[in-house]
Amino acid sequence: MIATTALKKDELIFTEQAQCFVPIEQRLICQQCAASLLCAPIPCPACHQRVVYCSRNCRQLHANIHIYECGAYRRNLLGMIGVSHLALRLLLKHLPEWIKQLPTENSHNAKELWQALVYPAATEDSPSLQSLRMITQLHKAPQEELVYHALCANLLQVYLFSCTSFYEDLKMANHTDWHLVIAALILRNAGQLLVNGHVGNALVIHALPSNEFPLLQPAMWQRPYHLKRGYLHKFSNRELITAINLPLLSLCNHACNPSLRTTFDGCMVNNYAAFHIAAGEEIFNCYSLDYKHSLSEQRQQQLLEIYKFRCDCSKCVRPEADADYLNFHRYRCELCKQSFVPKVNLNWWQQSDEILSICCTACDQTQQLTWYDQFLQLLERCDEPRDRRKLYEAFAALNTWLLEFNSLKLSLAKELIGGCFAAKDAGATFADYDYAELSKIIEFELAGIAAQRGSNSLLYISNATYLLDLIAWGKHKANAKQLPAMRSSFAFLAKETREIFVNYYNDFIEQ
Ligand SMILES: [Zn+2]
Ligand SMILES: [Zn+2]
Ligand SMILES: [Zn+2]
Ligand SMILES: [Zn+2]
Repeated sequence: MIATTALKKDELIFTEQAQCFVPIEQRLICQQCAASLLCAPIPCPACHQRVVYCSRNCRQLHANIHIYECGAYRRNLLGMIGVSHLALRLLLKHLPEWIKQLPTENSHNAKELWQALVYPAATEDSPSLQSLRMITQLHKAPQEELVYHALCANLLQVYLFSCTSFYEDLKMANHTDWHLVIAALILRNAGQLLVNGHVGNALVIHALPSNEFPLLQPAMWQRPYHLKRGYLHKFSNRELITAINLPLLSLCNHACNPSLRTTFDGCMVNNYAAFHIAAGEEIFNCYSLDYKHSLSEQRQQQLLEIYKFRCDCSKCVRPEADADYLNFHRYRCELCKQSFVPKVNLNWWQQSDEILSICCTACDQTQQLTWYDQFLQLLERCDEPRDRRKLYEAFAALNTWLLEFNSLKLSLAKELIGGCFAAKDAGATFADYDYAELSKIIEFELAGIAAQRGSNSLLYISNATYLLDLIAWGKHKANAKQLPAMRSSFAFLAKETREIFVNYYNDFIEQ
């Protein structure tokens, strides 16, 4: 994908309406439009509340797909087949379009049907034909992986035949050949989606059971879409909610410094320029973790395993390919006091099963990390005012060992903020001292996120909710730049969530 004109940072490059998605891990979102908040969820009455919609209209629009999936939901078949569910939905959505290209009906064997479907003569560019043309790397996959996907595809084909009216409805007379073709199409779709599928995220409410709906929690709202004061931080949780097929976005090649920033608004996907892009420059997406979030060797491994290529983008071929990432992992040695970046095990605190240890590269001494253990112990007692005071002190003391925007320090900031707000939600009383300390820590965390992900990222906005609650309580005075910047970042939220954030801003921040 090449830019035909120059693009400014944050300018919208293109928007794509997804033709096809499935909720991740059986999440209860509208199956038609991917709305996730749902003030009056309308269920399918037949499949035991496993499928819901935001309106009767959405349920109606989705009926031609769900008629073939309802039985699979009832049998709990879709939870265990991963990407093959999206592959099935791609088939259900597009097959009626695809078979229109067949020369004449019912007079072909499996091989001819396959040829005519997969290598269509039509040159028009409908979304359904774009989906058919996506590349797949399944032929390069290890055998056990291929067998797994083939079994899933055949399972679904058998299900369609034995439990639904799929074959009769599409008037597929010569069953045996069509069985083969349908299973092969699902398998091919799965292969395409393994390298072309995307995942969409959204802000969802913290610690809400998956069968509950945000707008149906009376304790949080003063009226629909208007939160009570101090409740915005409940929306600090980012989760993956959809597996989604985006043929247009899939056209972008990979680079470890993506020129795109993608935001999800239900089925609507917006792609913004991540930085200035000159006319004639290629526009890249990033298929793996980007260069600020991973070592180049980890990325290469992942790209090779899934996408079957090695990356030679500008960030990967430079002499110090990992410099940006390692900047987020700088420590000061407890013994020789020099600064260092551990050689192995950079994210040691996330690996609960390993022995937690890192070594100074200057003096080769293993670090004791007593400050880390003490911090964790204090985190357990956020509800006690005296222990909270010690916790703030311990956080300030981390500056001795964790330099700049060290990832561990950012992670501990997040734990501290979450822990203290949870204590407050549970009834702990906060003094002005608490608010002042929390303000500082949240601002530090936000600055770190801005450096790593940018201040329009969903991660930034989700963590800014804590600061906005402090402002709403009158416990933090935002500076002249902070407020307009946060207000304008709401533009990157999904429409339904944006409405809640804008209302909150108008109700409590800038009355
Ligand atoms: Zn809907
Ligand atoms: Zn159903
Ligand atoms: Zn690269
Ligand atoms: Zn040392």
